Amino acid sequence: MASKRHLRRKACAGKIRHETMEQAQAMARNGTQPYRCPFCGGYHCGHPCGFKQQFQKPNGRRY
Ligand SMILES: [Zn+2]
Repeated sequence: MASKRHLRRKACAGKIRHETMEQAQAMARNGTQPYRCPFCGGYHCGHPCGFKQQFQKPNGRRY
């Protein structure tokens, strides 16, 4: 089970923090999307919480 601290490490800590959604959008790459961070109130690029549940791996394995 994922703890809140674990989620913060995945979703916030170590990521670049943007002040606005526009900045985050500009930095988003293929496979990532800008999202508002519930931990620091800023914006990050990546996979927001729950995103990977909709994401299918190219090798066909599903999580
Ligand atoms: Zn954050």
